[in-house]
Amino acid sequence: MNKILSLFSIILLFVSCRKDKLELNVREGTHVSNVQIITTETGTYSPFIGHVVTDGNKIIYVGKEEPKINGVFQKINGSGKFLIPGMIDSHVHITEVQGMLPHQMEKYPELAKEFNVQMPRSYLYNGFTTLINLGGIYEAQLSFFNRQPLRPDLYHTGRSGVSVANGYPMNFAPEQFRFDAAPNFLYMESEADNIPDKFNPADHTPKAVVNRIKKSGAIAVKSYYESGFRGMSKLPVPTKSIMKALIHESHANQLPLTVHGNSLEAHSFLSEMGVDVIAHGLWNWEKYKDVPLDSLPAEIKKVLDLQIRKQIGYTPTLTVIAGEEALADNEFLKDPQLKKVVPHKMLEWYKTEEGQWFANELFMDYSSAEIHEIYGNIQAHAMLALKYLSDNGGLILFGTDTPSAPTYGNQPGHNGYWELSLMKKAGVPLDKILSSATINNAKTFHLDSLGSLAKGKRANMMLMTKNPLEEIEAYNTIEKIFLGGVVIDREDVSVK
Ligand SMILES: [Zn+2]
Repeated sequence: MNKILSLFSIILLFVSCRKDKLELNVREGTHVSNVQIITTETGTYSPFIGHVVTDGNKIIYVGKEEPKINGVFQKINGSGKFLIPGMIDSHVHITEVQGMLPHQMEKYPELAKEFNVQMPRSYLYNGFTTLINLGGIYEAQLSFFNRQPLRPDLYHTGRSGVSVANGYPMNFAPEQFRFDAAPNFLYMESEADNIPDKFNPADHTPKAVVNRIKKSGAIAVKSYYESGFRGMSKLPVPTKSIMKALIHESHANQLPLTVHGNSLEAHSFLSEMGVDVIAHGLWNWEKYKDVPLDSLPAEIKKVLDLQIRKQIGYTPTLTVIAGEEALADNEFLKDPQLKKVVPHKMLEWYKTEEGQWFANELFMDYSSAEIHEIYGNIQAHAMLALKYLSDNGGLILFGTDTPSAPTYGNQPGHNGYWELSLMKKAGVPLDKILSSATINNAKTFHLDSLGSLAKGKRANMMLMTKNPLEEIEAYNTIEKIFLGGVVIDREDVSVK
């Protein structure tokens, strides 16, 4: 008898639990109904038609069954549409005004201001709800960005990246300013004579530098391995013992270490050392730069195999190449999509002689055909390496490096869509492209509340009218962006 009673109460409990599960109380939420839900925790997708409910800034329900909802909420009919997590670009520089040098920003403060006010909106317009600023950022830049009413969630890597003394990128600043501008530089014995006396070596060890970065609220450590490009004289690079210490200190502080590198030399060194992320693809093939465009040299393959085996994050940043090449393309500034993300006056300024300064500096001595041949070769190599990594189970992290240089060719948001398209062109399957921009970045950068659609996660999502697992153009069919539960119509964040 007792047994029967307890069985009966278990059944009752089960029934009432089921009923509770489908009844939701929300204070201020949204209900996206009958939508095709595209999300993954593991990299494998099983899309289904269902319902997503948010309350405040969180997702509180994802499932096939339609829940009964009490409280205040907005219902959005998702029939025939697709819902994906908001995208994460893990390599941007929001500190720059595209195409302008500091003296030009001073000369045209209204242009720079208008650009900076639109910039966060332009990322949202293209579905990027999270950005990681991989380089130096001032408190004032962070707070200006965070004061904008509609902006992606922004994470950073501290007041400056970890550059070795006089190495990349601090080499770009004049000697009298470069050390103050890069407070997280690393002291190297070999550079001792070239470091001003006022800096105490004890403040510039890997341990001291990483502790400082951690304290600044950073989520990762950014460093560099760059021996020079475009005819620069050879730059100092980190030694093995420095890199080993940097990895150790980063991990002791639960910070992933992401390192700039795009050459065979850099990728070999960084793979061997076992950093967490390489912030660029492998496109500078050095002695193999003239090999046929359809074959991967064994030495390159070996480095990529090591990255695959160690699951080192690989950030293709194909738009670094495309965005520089764009300066030699007369059609680029006519792209109608640019008008959605770049203020009109700034687009006009780019066309002036002054706005063309970087194009002139880079390409003065080359014909347009020569430029496209040079950049075409580099991009073909970048794509071959990416395809190999993708075909063989490498860990791809979406990142654009917007902007990678003072080029107007890398525009906020626009560059992200371009990067997605180039990854497709390289042969990366659509499911891997989506994972790279969502769950892979979230996991690698320990952003546990992001990257997928699941109960308890932050309500960063995108509603689109085409399926991103079927066509790359879907990323240009965004209808609504959900940012911490706030619903934004795409056109509301385009340039007015
Ligand atoms: Zn960068």
